[in-house]
Amino acid sequence: MDEKKLDHYRTVLLEQLRQQTEAARGNQNDALEFAANDDGVKDVADQSVKDVSQEIEYRLSERASQAVADIDQALLRIDEGSYGVCARCGKEIPERRLDAVPTARYDAECQSLLEQSSGEDEHATL
Ligand SMILES: [Zn+2]
Repeated sequence: MDEKKLDHYRTVLLEQLRQQTEAARGNQNDALEFAANDDGVKDVADQSVKDVSQEIEYRLSERASQAVADIDQALLRIDEGSYGVCARCGKEIPERRLDAVPTARYDAECQSLLEQSSGEDEHATL
């Protein structure tokens, strides 16, 4: 893949990363607001904030942090020069697929094979 295309996908991925980060921050603000309104006692509120942070981290680990990790890995592959190459068979992933799923690690063929044998590769989400 040439530099121009890599730059394009890097931009797309960084934009997705920004959106994920903002979404996470929004959730955090909502949760903190909720905790602050929960009751008026100050030291209990401190405790609540801590609990809420842990709750957020837990939720992030469920969804957003997986998405962020996928994006991070894709950006790393751009730096390493392995972006856009199927991690299973080594063929180039079609650009049409990368446009739809910029974090794709596999071409469609390998993806469907991996989905059939789900559980063998826990990162085979896309
Ligand atoms: Zn493949």
